Amino acid sequence: METIISTIDKNNIDESIILSAGQILKDGGLVAFPTETVYGLGANALDEEAAKKTYAAKGRPSDNPLIVHIAELKALEAIVAEVPDLTEKIAKRFWPGPLTMIFKKSQIVPYGTTGGLDTVAVRMPSDKIARELILAAGGYVSAPSANTSGRPSPTTAQHVKDDLDGKIEMILDGGSVEIGLESTILDMTVTPPMILRPGAITADMLEEEIGEVAVDQTLLDSSSTQRPKAPGMKYRHYAPDAKLTIVEGTLKEEILAIRQLAYEAYLQGRQVGIIATNESEQYYSHGIVKNIGTRENEKTIARNLYSVLRDFNEEDISEIYSESFAVQGIGNAIMNRLEKAAGHIRIKAAPIVEKQKYRRIVFVSQSDTSRGPVAAELLRNEKLKQEYVIESRGMVVLFPEPVNQKAEAIMKSGKLTLQNHVSKAFSEEELKDDTLVLTFEQNQKEKIVSEYNVTENVYSINEFLDDDTEIPNPYGQPLTAYGEFYEMMKALTKKLVDKLNSFTEGGK
Ligand code: AMP
Ligand code: MG
Repeated sequence: METIISTIDKNNIDESIILSAGQILKDGGLVAFPTETVYGLGANALDEEAAKKTYAAKGRPSDNPLIVHIAELKALEAIVAEVPDLTEKIAKRFWPGPLTMIFKKSQIVPYGTTGGLDTVAVRMPSDKIARELILAAGGYVSAPSANTSGRPSPTTAQHVKDDLDGKIEMILDGGSVEIGLESTILDMTVTPPMILRPGAITADMLEEEIGEVAVDQTLLDSSSTQRPKAPGMKYRHYAPDAKLTIVEGTLKEEILAIRQLAYEAYLQGRQVGIIATNESEQYYSHGIVKNIGTRENEKTIARNLYSVLRDFNEEDISEIYSESFAVQGIGNAIMNRLEKAAGHIRIKAAPIVEKQKYRRIVFVSQSDTSRGPVAAELLRNEKLKQEYVIESRGMVVLFPEPVNQKAEAIMKSGKLTLQNHVSKAFSEEELKDDTLVLTFEQNQKEKIVSEYNVTENVYSINEFLDDDTEIPNPYGQPLTAYGEFYEMMKALTKKLVDKLNSFTEGGK
């Protein structure tokens, strides 16, 4: 079948398109359309055969019920057996909007639509195109998300096309959706009403309106083997092709752990995907990093989540790591979807980070124009098991200078360069818990220790390696002296690598 794709402007809706889309639905066909949550795959909700087509197009298990979309409150009565007391209050506040309520169904709703259940899920969307389409179709449009079952829900018409082109009659392209996550589902058949799926309407918002609401416990405990009450919640959902793992800790720990995981993959010649935020993006140096939004406004994260998950399918990666988000407000829905996309695979950041005795190494020489920069560059070119920031500083640097020309000549012979190096003075700033300071001379170490009154993390290279090789200072000497220093430093670098790697393996 050829899928018609029609672009509609929300602010200037072309009625003829709505009418023809409505007719397709009345005739038992399928039309994908935008809602404020995600794109829906519409069918006539009162037509058993249309429901079957919906399941077939999505490849969705038929025990996974559809949500019936209405455009007017008065439409509710005909499809539910009874209207519980709180309904009106909730509808008044949250409809139209991203909230689905579950009621006992009436006779006219076919079991095909409800996945065989005696209850029916109903929502009144706020999107203008959705509302006009529902009215044009006769008032009752069943609409699951318009994606292939198991994949991330569609937040653009292109996502729908990627999944369903050729399988449905029509796609209405109304641009990107506003919220990006599916509706909150609230079961009205129990007292107090129970949230079966978190969404943009949070438990707090509902409680403010109606007092106590319950939350399906299986949602809170990801290790639960109990069946969730919303049938759809039991399937792996929203999943990208690559294996997704959620990394948990403080934001700093998460960044450090993901950096390490990305670095380990890089050592093996692989790239990982990373789900990062505005706040963290800059800290990743390996891997394919996608910015999902800002932590200062989690709505941006909700809106981008599915399209980021989909975008990763275009990348050559076998694994994705994601930071975690606070389980508050819409963060609850974000983590719920992320966990389902990850098939509940989570790891703790702390054990990875705790193995990192140091994260930065600073070589300190006299002027930071020869020995320090050479040592730093040699170490940077080693495949250490952990990623370090490696730098050099000088005890006496009055103004920034480029590297000594003889040092550069020797580096060139080893196919390295220090062309971009500029000398910098050592300062108290280098004395941090995660920074290893290595001096070339014993007296440099002692000077730092006494001047800044430090007790830890500052060593001469000899001390640190427990090695008594005398490291010559080639300054002012012929090129051969630089060559000798370079060879010696190469040998010491190997020892440094072993020592640093022993920390990563958990040694001391
Ligand atoms: P989707 O349309 O893709 O957002 O999926 C609709 C989801 O709503 C289903 O997967 C179910 O989890 C839930 N749902 C729909 N109808 C019912 C119902 N009668 N009882 C419980 N959950 C329902
Ligand atoms: Mg869905």
